[in-house]
Amino acid sequence: ARVNSNRQDPGTILPNVKNIIAVASGKGGVGKSTVASNLALALAQEGAKVGIMDADIYGPSTPMMFGIQGERPMMRDVDGKGMIEPIERFGVKVMSIGLLVDEKQAVIWRGPMATSAIRQFINDVYWGELDYLILDLPPGTGDIHLTLVQTVPITGAVVVTTPQAVAMADAKKGMMMFKQGQINVPILGVVENMSYFTPAELPENKYYIFGKNGGRELAEQFEVPFLGEIPIVQSIREGGDKGFPAVLNDEPVSKKAFLDLAANVA
Ligand code: ADP
Repeated sequence: ARVNSNRQDPGTILPNVKNIIAVASGKGGVGKSTVASNLALALAQEGAKVGIMDADIYGPSTPMMFGIQGERPMMRDVDGKGMIEPIERFGVKVMSIGLLVDEKQAVIWRGPMATSAIRQFINDVYWGELDYLILDLPPGTGDIHLTLVQTVPITGAVVVTTPQAVAMADAKKGMMMFKQGQINVPILGVVENMSYFTPAELPENKYYIFGKNGGRELAEQFEVPFLGEIPIVQSIREGGDKGFPAVLNDEPVSKKAFLDLAANVA
């Protein structure tokens, strides 16, 4: 249990949210959104109240991963203020720019518009009481990251990388951003995704397609916990595309990987 200390000073920003966990990556395509979604669902399966905020304004994938594309949030009156209700699916509250704009259109916004969308997600969305709010960050280090760390008291960040050198080099930059003086977000640890592949007909074999142990070494280098490795599993990819994330499935390897991750983060 690394996070259950709960926030010391919830203040006025999201006072009813106990833990705000940012899921970050340096490079795109390493499985950050897949990890964020499955982590949210794994925490919910263990009985926690969970929300996920898709802060990836330019490439929102949460609506597809949760199978809620085309759904539109309702408004709700809260003490005389109109608030946006997240869409609830599989017991998790979801908010994404993909639920507010036409999905077939690319979001082509300058930084200030993207950051004001993020501010709305924090101030105008009715999250209610949550044990965990998972923030699915955009890849890299940019405007949105700065806005978030300046406006939201983030409990800690989970960094996702593949073991590939180029992904780890970018993950390192992300970790350095969190450690910078003005930002100073605790790094909860590193998750290695796409660690290896095991073919069904060779269940004892592990093929280290993107390299071996990179995530673990990165964690050691930064003296942060290694939170686990997630193999390449076809059902993880299929679950994301189908809107029924892998942790909800019966495929035992991926289910265990995400439940273990949640136990290490919680
Ligand atoms: P990111 O958020 O870092 O851009 P995604 O979560 O969108 O990455 O993942 C990129 C692609 O890789 C998606 O198609 C996803 O389904 C797939 N994927 C991610 N992790 C795994 C995994 N462990 N096994 C198989 N496919 C994966």
